[in-house]
Amino acid sequence: MQVGLIGYPVGHSISPAFQQAAFDAVGLDVHYHLWETPPEQLADIVSRLRQPDYLGANVTIPHKQAIVRFLDEIDSVARLIGAVNTIVREEGRLLGYNTDVEGFVRALEHDGGVTIAGRRIVVLGAGGAARAVVAAVLLGDPADLALCARRPEQAKALLADLTRAGLANTEDQSQVLPLDATSQSCKQAVQVADVVVNTTPVGMLHHATEGMLPIPADWLGVGQLVYDLIYNPAETPLLRAAKDRGARALNGLPMLVYQGASAFERWTGRAAPLKIMTKRAREALGG
Ligand code: NAP
Repeated sequence: MQVGLIGYPVGHSISPAFQQAAFDAVGLDVHYHLWETPPEQLADIVSRLRQPDYLGANVTIPHKQAIVRFLDEIDSVARLIGAVNTIVREEGRLLGYNTDVEGFVRALEHDGGVTIAGRRIVVLGAGGAARAVVAAVLLGDPADLALCARRPEQAKALLADLTRAGLANTEDQSQVLPLDATSQSCKQAVQVADVVVNTTPVGMLHHATEGMLPIPADWLGVGQLVYDLIYNPAETPLLRAAKDRGARALNGLPMLVYQGASAFERWTGRAAPLKIMTKRAREALGG
């Protein structure tokens, strides 16, 4: 059987490494491919997935939103976010899911030791990953959510989209604040937060901001969990600063593995071998 990652570009993804390890570990004869797909080839690759030899696919940048219109059914969470990262072929029909929400929450609870309910949460950034994170937070009934973005209009549009898609109380539970080092409102929100989530690429390896932090280190303090969605490097400058200031730190690797594990379970109906997937993901990152 075949399964793979649809994206453009896909060359740097570590999904093939840990997904192939998972199929091999449970003894399934499945090959996980990298399907480098320019936008004009999206329709073709989706129609190929309808053939009996295919389990489905993962979907990544830039196709998570564009792929929705080619599928037969979209589950409620993916519909809320307007983005699909997992396709499952079932009796010739293509079903779309978004397992980023589940991956984010599972890592927060299991590896971060924090549940969303009643917590004060700050999310930095308002791009694609923030969409799943903000939906997950609002579905989890937080005490409040501050969304700090360098373009506040992007954050407002994200919240408006979630409201339109049917997420209740979006506006009551959340506020949009400017993200910059001089923003007193974002600073105050971060200082009183239980959880600070970075969804910006600031601090990512090989990014223009490598070595930098999305917020000043002295905004962070004891008792907080700082959750950076970046997984390369394993310890970003933000996470190093969090530890130095007595906060706890969680990187993006558990979320990446859990979203993949959830996809694996939907394709196969089998429990994902999490330990093997995590080990292989770390190895693929060179750690
Ligand atoms: P994206 O759609 O490009 O969104 C990035 C967001 O960060 C945008 O709001 C962007 O604002 C903002 N931003 C970019 N550079 C900034 C800067 N220098 N200062 C302040 N804000 C800045 O990217 P994405 O797909 O959401 O991915 C973001 C990060 O999350 C990446 O590092 C990615 O690897 C990681 N990620 C991890 C997982 C996981 O499973 N662990 C899953 C998804 C993503 P503008 O629009 O103004 O540029």
